[in-house]
Amino acid sequence: MEKYVGVDVGGTNLKFGIFLSDGQLIKKWSIVTDYSDHGIHMWKQICEEINKNIEKKDLRGIGIGIPGPVLENGFVEVCVNLDLHNFNPASVLKEYFPDVEIAVVNDANAAALGEQWKGSGQGYRSIGMVTLGTGVGGAIIIDGKLCCGANGLSGEIGHIRVNSDEKEECTCGGVGCVDQIASATGIVRYAKKLLMENDAESSLRMKEEFTAEDVINAAKAGDNVAEHIINHCMKYLAKALAAAAYIADPEVFIIGGGVSNAGQYLIDIIQESFNTYITLSKKKALIIKASLGNDAGIYGAAKTVIG
Ligand SMILES: [Zn+2]
Repeated sequence: MEKYVGVDVGGTNLKFGIFLSDGQLIKKWSIVTDYSDHGIHMWKQICEEINKNIEKKDLRGIGIGIPGPVLENGFVEVCVNLDLHNFNPASVLKEYFPDVEIAVVNDANAAALGEQWKGSGQGYRSIGMVTLGTGVGGAIIIDGKLCCGANGLSGEIGHIRVNSDEKEECTCGGVGCVDQIASATGIVRYAKKLLMENDAESSLRMKEEFTAEDVINAAKAGDNVAEHIINHCMKYLAKALAAAAYIADPEVFIIGGGVSNAGQYLIDIIQESFNTYITLSKKKALIIKASLGNDAGIYGAAKTVIG
């Protein structure tokens, strides 16, 4: 039976999924990424895992999602969190699997493709995807086609500048990116700043350390300070989504990543704020929650070779 593999390369884990041509996921697993020695071990890990789990005669294609900009020819200049530079994943894997189709895709783009194929983006032709995790990732699909752009920047919604008052530098080298305020890291950072600046009563003060999830839960429970924090951070996200909407005009924005587990509560806040920024048309893009969770990347990677 023809089988396809989707691989999601992450700084912590390598995730694998084996798919049939109709998109049925028949097995998934993950292992810890060993990216020492310029990735030599990582490629070996990937190939060994595939060989262990799938018979060579059945294997038709391998799609691989990479956490960094992928140029049109498949070349990757840098993966910051893996400390890998200047490589072509397809040509590395071709050495191990000469007769198998190999495709390379940026990981956020893979998540968008996955959600459109088998997740909450089904039925939509144009999609904006945003992942709210440690940072803010993004991708744009217009009329069924992934926008890759000239420099791998297309869909990098996280680095749209939205806050001119920001003083600290973003991981991208810029200042005032939405990544700095709407990511899990950004929510906690803004919460700490606000709690330092005033002495308003808040359940967040009971904890020495708290996460973005704690802030969201406090907001849901009616904590005024936490509510203000979430509204503030999501307002900036909505501002960036509005900027993206005026360029790409997708039918939906899909919100994924750990922060999106907050569910409809968060989606409603983003939608309400987003609507206020879109004034040129009555019809606004729908904000919806991603549905594939951590599996979006393996689905999307596999889709690139299933076609
Ligand atoms: Zn940035």
